[in-house]
Amino acid sequence: MFSSLSDRLSATFKGLRGKGRLSEADVDATVREIRRALLDADVALPVVRQFAASVRERALSAEVSGALNPAQQVVKIVHEELVGVLGGQTRRLRFAKNPPTVIMLAGLQGAGKTTLAGKLGRWLREQGHAPLLVAADLQRPNAVTQLQVVGERAGVAVFAPEPGNGVGDPVDVARRGVAAARERQHDVVVVDTAGRLGVDAEMMQQAADIRAATEPDEVLFVVDAMIGQDAVVTAQAFLDGVDLTGVVLSKLDGDARGGAALSVASVTGRPVMFASTGEGLGDFEVFHPDRMASRILDMGDVLTLIEQAEKAFDAEQAQDLATRFASGEDFTLDDFLTQMQGLRNMGSIKKMLGMLPGMGELREQLESFDEREIDRIEAIVRSMTPLERRSPKVLNGSRRARIAKGSGRTVTDVNQLLDRFADAQKMMRSMRKGGGMPGLGGLPG
Ligand code: GDP
Repeated sequence: MFSSLSDRLSATFKGLRGKGRLSEADVDATVREIRRALLDADVALPVVRQFAASVRERALSAEVSGALNPAQQVVKIVHEELVGVLGGQTRRLRFAKNPPTVIMLAGLQGAGKTTLAGKLGRWLREQGHAPLLVAADLQRPNAVTQLQVVGERAGVAVFAPEPGNGVGDPVDVARRGVAAARERQHDVVVVDTAGRLGVDAEMMQQAADIRAATEPDEVLFVVDAMIGQDAVVTAQAFLDGVDLTGVVLSKLDGDARGGAALSVASVTGRPVMFASTGEGLGDFEVFHPDRMASRILDMGDVLTLIEQAEKAFDAEQAQDLATRFASGEDFTLDDFLTQMQGLRNMGSIKKMLGMLPGMGELREQLESFDEREIDRIEAIVRSMTPLERRSPKVLNGSRRARIAKGSGRTVTDVNQLLDRFADAQKMMRSMRKGGGMPGLGGLPG
């Protein structure tokens, strides 16, 4: 998502490079380009207008800072404005003083509410909470079962209406769910509610009734980032009908233009709090407006990358490596392989590399990047003897030829891997000198 917006904005900024100062005509031309890029990405018109006016005014009054050249200044201004559009500061969940904290999910059918309930549940559990998911979507056949399945996968308890009692009343189920949470010592309740394919009065009333019955601390509006301009219209309807405290953007992994989703916070005045980026339970992030703005402007989202790397990298292995390292042992090919395998856990490597700064221009290359690269590295390292893995300097020509044959690769592949390993080893050694923790030595590619 946002890659074409990203490309357009990068191209605009590139046009400014090398300029000593910006004339009014330069600023106007740039703002025009930005405006067009935002409109083409489906950002809502009022948001675009406000954005463009603000950027123009600030760029002209050029808060001149000696450290930045004009192009960098414009990027900085656009970045700050984007952060503002996305809701400003990161907005964390508000927990109730008297548990349970109640989080109600609202949105159209298919927006991703049930999936989100599982993701939120797992994330809350990882944070040390004891969440309960409540199945108050009695509209869609299977929604209750779906929540039970998701809850099981997430390792989180689910409160569901007893089967066989007719359709049941969702408001009643929600109320009983919250009561059950209190009784069973759950400190957070996530209430999944019904959606329709479009906004209708009955659905809105039901959501408002559930809200009244459960007095939620948070009402999160889940919106499918793929639905384009309807996202803004729907958000407005939910804001009026149920009132919201925050927004969750789902399906950010899709390739829609995404601008409408970017507009939702600005139009509703409610911050984006979470992002859903896939069907898996782990495809979920706390939404940080500043990081998202950096990603869109191709300044990279190094912080999210580091967090994902930390999660993917097995803590025990990392500890083990750190201890051995501290006692003076060297970084070996086995360690290198372990790190590479860690990358596999990070979901798609392409997704990850997309968060690195300056990768926009490399997108084509990234598209051809292939996770099987890690399989190849694995095959080569596995064809080495323990001695060779520990002390690669013994790898003379004939050993390299044997390894190439054993792994089904060429000698050139083996040489390339060894070069890459040597770089990673050098980096690890310099980190030891600097006292830093070992990180990801030598990303592939
Ligand atoms: P609900 O009707 O709002 O409860 O929506 P669901 O949670 O049932 O999701 C509808 C469909 O979208 C399901 O097929 C989900 O697997 C899928 N889905 C949900 N979130 C995401 C996401 O972030 N990315 C992608 N690609 N699919 C998602």
